[in-house]
Order: sequence, then structure tokens, then C-alpha cells
Amino acid sequence: MTEKSWFGLKRSEIDWFPKIDYGKCISCMACVNKCEHRVYAEKYGKPKVIAPKNCVVGCTGCQSVCTKHAISHPPKSYLQRLAKRNDFKIGCQCGGKSK
Ligand code: SF4
Ligand code: SF4
Repeated sequence: MTEKSWFGLKRSEIDWFPKIDYGKCISCMACVNKCEHRVYAEKYGKPKVIAPKNCVVGCTGCQSVCTKHAISHPPKSYLQRLAKRNDFKIGCQCGGKSK
């Protein structure tokens, strides 16, 4: 299920989604297969981000499986600024403090 908000912000207002460097991509489709949120689709033999706002804020799962380092997300500091929390952990939405 796609999230609708994050730290009280509308998901539609958060620019968090993967970007693909096609100069590095070898079209292995590991990213397409990794994502469970239908962010990607294969188009003409290449991965394409078709639903960027379906991307889970803080997730970098597809970036982790790309052996060619062809996928990037915004820096953690972008989310920290939005959340206004210095102790914010990427990928965590519980709002709890770091120990
Ligand atoms: S995992 Fe990386 S190399 Fe493979 S299709 Fe996706 S972007 Fe391209
Ligand atoms: S970061 Fe996570 S949710 Fe977003 S596209 Fe990649 S695997 Fe899917």
C-alpha cells in the first residue's frame, strides 16, 4: 500500500524517489524486481520510474541492489530538513530517538 503522509507532510509534496543514470545502467532489472511498490516498469528493455510518489520515503532498496551504482536518491539531509529532526533515521518512521 502506498503511504499518504510522512511526519505529517503529504507524500505528494516530498521529492523522494529513485533516479536512474542510464549511462551506468546495464538493464539487469534488479531494481524493477526489487521494488514491491510499482515505482518501476520495464520499458523497451530499460527500467523506468513510472510512479515516483509510490516510492516509500526513506527507502533505498533498489539503490542497494544496483551493482552498477546507477540509482540515486536525495541525500538524507533533505529528509532531515523536512522532518526537522536531527536524530531522524533514514527508513524509520516511528519517530523514536536514537539510542
Ligand atoms: S539495478 Fe541498476 S543496472 Fe540494473 S536495471 Fe536497475 S538501474 Fe539498471
Ligand atoms: S527506494 Fe524502495 S520503494 Fe522506492 S523505488 Fe526503490 S525499492 Fe521501491
